[in-house]
Amino acid sequence: MVDIFIEHGLLLTMKGEGVGPIEDGAVAIEDGRIVEVGKTHRLKQRYRGAEWVLDARGKAVLPGLVDAHIHTSLSLLRGEAQDVPEIEWMLKTLAPFMKYFTREHRIAGAALGVLEAIKAGTTCIGEVGSDLEEITRRIYLPSGVRACIAPLINEIGPDSRPDPYKPYIFYPELGEERLKEALSLVERLNGAGEGRITCMLAPHAADMMSRELLLRVREEAERLGLMMHMHVAQGEREAIQIKLRYGTSTIKFLDSIGYLDDRLLAVHCHHASEEEIALLASRGVHYVSCPSSIALIDGVTPPLALYLSLGGKAAAIGSDQACGNNCHNLLMEMKIAALLNKTRHRDPTLLPAWKILRIATIEGAKALGLSNEIGSIEEGKRADIIILDLRKPHMTPILHKPVRNIAPNIVYSARGDEVETVIIDGRIVMRDRRILTLDEEEVMTKAQKAAEEITEAAAEDFMAAGSHLAKAVKKGLL
Ligand SMILES: [Zn+2]
Repeated sequence: MVDIFIEHGLLLTMKGEGVGPIEDGAVAIEDGRIVEVGKTHRLKQRYRGAEWVLDARGKAVLPGLVDAHIHTSLSLLRGEAQDVPEIEWMLKTLAPFMKYFTREHRIAGAALGVLEAIKAGTTCIGEVGSDLEEITRRIYLPSGVRACIAPLINEIGPDSRPDPYKPYIFYPELGEERLKEALSLVERLNGAGEGRITCMLAPHAADMMSRELLLRVREEAERLGLMMHMHVAQGEREAIQIKLRYGTSTIKFLDSIGYLDDRLLAVHCHHASEEEIALLASRGVHYVSCPSSIALIDGVTPPLALYLSLGGKAAAIGSDQACGNNCHNLLMEMKIAALLNKTRHRDPTLLPAWKILRIATIEGAKALGLSNEIGSIEEGKRADIIILDLRKPHMTPILHKPVRNIAPNIVYSARGDEVETVIIDGRIVMRDRRILTLDEEEVMTKAQKAAEEITEAAAEDFMAAGSHLAKAVKKGLL
């Protein structure tokens, strides 16, 4: 007997080159895996006795969305760092808050980030952060989310960056400690939750650690057969540091130390030339683009369409962090990714709806190295599936010819609250918009309290740092 049988849905399976639609489709799920996909009338008899039968009439059934780059803990700082020059964002708006974060704060933030993401259809996150062992045990595992976690490794201490125009001061003993912690986390958690938790190593960025430590991380990744999740060419601040230290650009430097191949998942890359993006693409480097985050922080459209047009084969999108985005909503991120890339290249044919939907599902899964297990609705894959209720004014009408309008309507009109049911690894995590694995009220109350503690402690430092945002606050503009 199967556990879950979804019937009469408008399936977008992502099988093949496009969205792989099946009208009046059905999916049978057993022991966490998809056992059969097809027309409802063909499957219905066979799976009559399913424990759960979900009627998806008038609803879209999709693979769960993949948010490939996220810092869930920072959701506590939603709306506290934006509308400032890039050079100020990390050093004058984010940094004053960061030193007051405790482990408990990070956990409260992670719970909020995951809650928000699942409610908008995300089933798999590519998390980069600190305290991930505790966060995974207390939040990711019980919440049911699929997480590819990458513990941050850098050599940055609280006093490392007094002047962005001078080389940062590195603390090798901190780097050593973080690498050690990361390796023990991998040992304990890679494959946890029956495979729902996977690991990468995360060298933070080329400007935040020495060449020696970068090489050590690479060596360990090779030894363990892991990918590396890394911020690459993420703006002027980093470019200044790399130039000071190595006299070149980030991507050329990374190339010189043997970093560019399919073991690397490079994030952002908006401070790179076309030639450098071509190099990433030709070396098989995987890429995550975070269009809203980079538009807000840098005023730049990151090179998603460019990477693809130059032959890049594994692209994903990510929501990054809530202080500069400001939300973990992949449905909105899809639209923003499409619009920004169309305007960047003045070409409305770029990143059509069907393509961006693939990037948020099957291709995103590939970027995280998980496409054998998730990303499409196909027999044998783990059952990460979302059901969207299309019976909404902004999703009406549903048409099947001449154009099947479901994919464009999901990409350009959906806002998150259409997501009615979320299934991850064959487990129903959200039903009728109610999360079954987390206490929503408790998560929000704890997040509110944690955020108040941090912002109260940091308020003076934040104002003293004198960012554009602090000046706007002083003038009473917001
Ligand atoms: Zn990031």
